[in-house]
Amino acid sequence: MTVDLRIPAELPAAAETYAAAGIKVFRVRRNKTPYANCARCDQKSSLYIPHRPADCRCGVPTCHGFWAATTNVDLVRQWWREEPDANIGAPCALNGWAVLDIDPRHGGDQSLAVLEQRVGVLPGSVMQLTGGGGLHIVYRTPGVVLPGGLGPGLDVKHNGYILLAPSVHSSGGRYRWSGHGRFLQPTVGWPAVLTPRQRSAA
Ligand SMILES: [Zn+2]
Ligand SMILES: [Zn+2]
Repeated sequence: MTVDLRIPAELPAAAETYAAAGIKVFRVRRNKTPYANCARCDQKSSLYIPHRPADCRCGVPTCHGFWAATTNVDLVRQWWREEPDANIGAPCALNGWAVLDIDPRHGGDQSLAVLEQRVGVLPGSVMQLTGGGGLHIVYRTPGVVLPGGLGPGLDVKHNGYILLAPSVHSSGGRYRWSGHGRFLQPTVGWPAVLTPRQRSAA
């Protein structure tokens, strides 16, 4: 299925647009402080019940950070009605993505050049400008564990999350999809040259 979305300029409408297209989103505060877990999910609480976030059954829709991400449009509408300024987070692997995060402020452009000298030019895919001078290249996940980074300023977002346009970067700029500002679901797979070799199941 081709997903090609025109992303509204306002955060609440944009969040709904992503969710309605099947992209899991969750709220991220501008200062990134996480929403509190409920007592049963809070490891510091005496009521805590040990469980993995993926297995949570508490029913509170904001527990465990990005594990709370949802495609439920009604819930998303409610979240952004409560906090219209919240940024839009999207877990990467849970959405089928593996993202190369290039931050020139920390030498990411240099690291990418060095990497491409070694492995060849990486395939192009859907790109997002981060609003802070950085770039996301969004690939389809290879479905295996990936390293967290490939060099200074060159991170791999896979188990974590990214912010989606039109979220506001800490520098004040807004995230924006490259090209015409539309979001396209990536069809290009994570480069095989960057995928750790799998141990063969003998
Ligand atoms: Zn909970
Ligand atoms: Zn829980």
